[in-house]
Amino acid sequence: MKHKMKLNIQFCGAAQTVTGSCYWVRTAASSFLVDCGMFQGTKTVKQLNYEPFPFMPEQIDFVLLTHAHIDHSGLLPKLYNAGFEGPVYMTAGTKDLLSFMLPDSGYIQEMEVKFLNQRNARHGRESVLPIFTQKEAIACQQQFQTIDYETWFEAGPGIRARYWNAGHILGSASIELEINSENQQKQTPIRLMFSGDIGPDNKLFHPDPEAPSDFDYAICESTYGGIQRQALSPDERRAVLAHHVNDTLNNDGMLVVPAFAVERTQELLVDLSILQHRQQIPQSPIFLDSPMAIRATRVFQDHADNLEDVNGPQRLLDNPNFHFTQTVGESKAINRIHSGAILVAASGMCDAGRIRHHLKHRLWRTNTTILIIGYQEKGTLGHLLLDGKKTVKIQGDDVKVNARIEQIDVYSGHADGNELVEWILSRGPLKYGLFLTHGENHRAQALRKSLLEAGFTGCDIIIPTLDDKVELHRAEKGPIFKKTSPRVQSKSLSGLDWHNDLAQFQIDLRAEFERAADDRSRQILLRRLRRALNNEA
Ligand SMILES: [Zn+2]
Repeated sequence: MKHKMKLNIQFCGAAQTVTGSCYWVRTAASSFLVDCGMFQGTKTVKQLNYEPFPFMPEQIDFVLLTHAHIDHSGLLPKLYNAGFEGPVYMTAGTKDLLSFMLPDSGYIQEMEVKFLNQRNARHGRESVLPIFTQKEAIACQQQFQTIDYETWFEAGPGIRARYWNAGHILGSASIELEINSENQQKQTPIRLMFSGDIGPDNKLFHPDPEAPSDFDYAICESTYGGIQRQALSPDERRAVLAHHVNDTLNNDGMLVVPAFAVERTQELLVDLSILQHRQQIPQSPIFLDSPMAIRATRVFQDHADNLEDVNGPQRLLDNPNFHFTQTVGESKAINRIHSGAILVAASGMCDAGRIRHHLKHRLWRTNTTILIIGYQEKGTLGHLLLDGKKTVKIQGDDVKVNARIEQIDVYSGHADGNELVEWILSRGPLKYGLFLTHGENHRAQALRKSLLEAGFTGCDIIIPTLDDKVELHRAEKGPIFKKTSPRVQSKSLSGLDWHNDLAQFQIDLRAEFERAADDRSRQILLRRLRRALNNEA
C-alpha cells in the first residue's frame, strides 16, 4: 500500500532562538512555508543564512508571510534565487514595507560583503558572495500577493488561510489555517494557528491583537515569556522618554537612539513631537539619519487611515525640529554637532547601518547618552553595550565606551509574558499540542510555567529545537516526532560564539599590555604568552 503523507511541520528557524522564523508545512497535496526569515546575532547564527535551505525551494508551492520584519521575511530573495516560483501571500501593509526593506537588506549585504572581501583579499582568503543582492530583492517581489485581514482564501489544494491583526507592526498578522491533509472534502480539516509576532495591548497605532479560538494545534512566539512589563499610559510612557532626553540635553549632552527603522522610529518621533509641542523637552534638533526609516515613515503616512492615533503620523513630518538626512554627506555632517541634539539612526541592534559610524564617533565622549529602546540579540553591538563592555570593536577599530548606556522598555512591539498567556488562553481550547517558538529556551520555559500556573490544560506544551520535524494528527497521542539531523545544535544558537570571545580577548590583551609597568614587563608577558601558545600546540 502506498504510504500517504500526513501533515508534517518542520521548525526551520526561531526554535529556541528569536530569529530565522521559518516553518515548513507539508501534506500529500501541498508543500509550503510560513515565513522565510533571516538569522541574526552571532557569526555562528548568521552562517545559517549562507547554507542551503533544509528543503528544496523549487518544491515549495507558496509562502504565507506573517509580517515584514527581516527575521521573518529576509530570506525570501534567497528562496526566489534558489528556484521558488510560487506566490507569497501577505497583507498590503507588509507588501508596502517590504518594497524597500528587502532591497535595503540586499544593499547592506552587498556593502558588508564588499568590505569583508577587501579584508579577505588582504589576508589571502577566498572571497564570498552576498546572500542576495539589491537587484534580486527587487525581482522577487513580482511574486508577492496581497490579501485582506479576516477573509478566508484558498492558498493551495486542501489549504484555507485567514489573516488576523497581530498588533505587532504595520501589516502584521497571525495566521489561521484549515488543512485537509489529503485534500478530501469529507475529511474534517486540522485547525492550526500560527501566532506570528504578537504585539502588546494598548500599542500606539494598532488595535489589540485578535484571533479566533478552538484549534487542534497552535504555534506561538515566546520572545518575552516570563517577563512582566509595567503597564503604562501614553503620558507615563512619554514621561520616561522625557526624563532621559532632559537629563542629557540639559547637561550639554547628545542623545543617540539606535532605533528599528520600522514602527519603533515612528513611535519615537510621535512622542518626541508631542513632548516638544507641550514644551516638556527642549526644542532641540532631532536628526533621523536612516534612509530606510524615512521611507518607512512615508508608508505610515500612506496607511494613516488604517492606523490608530492617526493625528500623530499625519503630523510626523510637520515638526520644524526634524531633520531627515538622506545622503551620506548629510549623515557625516552630523558629526560636527557635539551637543544639544537628538540623533535617531538604524539599525536597532547596532549591528549594521549608519548607527555604527555614529557610535564610533561618539561612544568615547562622556557627554553622550546611548538610549537603547528595543530587543538586543546576544552577540550584537547593542547587547555588548548593555552588557557594560568598556571597549568595543567597530569596523575593526577598538572604541572606548565613555558614553552613558541607558535602556528603557516602553516601546516594545512585543506582548509581555502576561499578554502572551492571555493570547494563548483566548485561543483555547487547544486540543492536541501547543508549540512555543521564537524565544530563547529559558523564555519559552518561563512561558510554559506561567501557562500552567494560569490553569492551561488540554494538551502538551512543546518547545521544539532547530530542524525538529513533527507529524500532526487529530488524535489524543498528539504530535509524533520524526528523525532529522539539525544543521546546528539549538544550544549553539543562543549565547556568544568564539568570534565574540576572540574579540573580547584581543581587547583584554591590549589593555593588559597598556597597564604593564614598563617595556621590560611587557617583554616578559609576551614571552609567557608565546610559551603558552607553543605548549598548547
Ligand atoms: Zn517581528
